[in-house]
Amino acid sequence: MKIRDLLRARRGPLFSFEFFPPKTPEGEEALFRTMEELKAFRPAFVSITYGAMGSTRERSVAWARRILDLGLTPLAHLTVAGQRREEVAKVLGRFVASGVENVLALRGDPPRGERVFRPHPEGFRYASELVALIRERYGEALSVGGAAYPEGHPESGSLEADLRHFKAKVEAGLDFAITQLFFHNAHYFGFLERARRLGIAIPILPGIMPITSYPQLRRFTEVCGASIPGPLLSRLERHQDDPEAILEIGVEHATRQVAELLEAGVEGVHFYTLNRSPATRMVLERLGFKPA
Ligand SMILES: Cc1cc2nc3c(=O)[nH]c(=O)nc-3n(C[C@H](O)[C@H](O)[C@H](O)COP(=O)(O)OP(=O)(O)OC[C@H]3O[C@@H](n4cnc5c(N)ncnc54)[C@H](O)[C@@H]3O)c2cc1C
Repeated sequence: MKIRDLLRARRGPLFSFEFFPPKTPEGEEALFRTMEELKAFRPAFVSITYGAMGSTRERSVAWARRILDLGLTPLAHLTVAGQRREEVAKVLGRFVASGVENVLALRGDPPRGERVFRPHPEGFRYASELVALIRERYGEALSVGGAAYPEGHPESGSLEADLRHFKAKVEAGLDFAITQLFFHNAHYFGFLERARRLGIAIPILPGIMPITSYPQLRRFTEVCGASIPGPLLSRLERHQDDPEAILEIGVEHATRQVAELLEAGVEGVHFYTLNRSPATRMVLERLGFKPA
């Protein structure tokens, strides 16, 4: 199924889950278990990430196929960083040949330790160029998504410039967008309002990550620039050595965020699961969604 069609036909909010391709057989087994558990919540689609510089190419293609075999709809992430245009086009072709109908077109980050993104000499500079390539080669046969940044992309000079670039990406052919994770709903609502004022009409699905680990949270927010509300940060800091307390605080906060987003009528919610089911399951169950 194409996500474009799922979004058009939806009667209520859609849920989706994000996973990354594991490196070890144990990780693979654990991900199968997680997918089986979360499948019971009838996700509209599940997404599989694409490692920096194409590092998970083989595993990402293999997992997209496995997701289809599990009876779920895959959204294949694809980044352009560090790869020639032809290489990216080839991977795209492999996803399509595997039956994938949905692609999240991304640029990717600079290599670890580097702050400035340098495109491959024969590669793409921006995600919008990949969106254009997908539309040129596949027309409407693929549903294409892109990333959105409620707090602004870390490299962008201003929220306004970032939004202008986002608009250009939408006009290149996006059907929908998924946001970077955020912990303050006000950032999402503000972004949505500014986007709608600029005439951006596509669904922009909020990305929610229930916090499950304090050190991991610090690492993630450093990379993606998401801010943590002061009172939440103080609670997490006070309990940083107590994993159970951190899980409870994280689930409680994410549940409140998702409840408010649903109340506001969002088209769906995308969960960053980190390949584990308990936190996402707890949030959905606390909101009254029952597994099948
Ligand atoms: C939902 C989601 C999923 C992700 N999945 C992955 C993944 O699987 N693998 C991975 O490696 N990374 C992933 N990322 C991270 C992403 O690759 C990084 O955030 C990356 O730094 C930017 O990618 P982008 O597609 O948003 O880039 P772009 O849309 O190209 O934007 C990158 C920067 O360039 C600027 N820009 C865009 N167009 C122009 C222009 N014409 N002129 C000047 N400046 C411009 C933008 O304002 C922004 O600052 C994901 C991010 C999100 C939000």
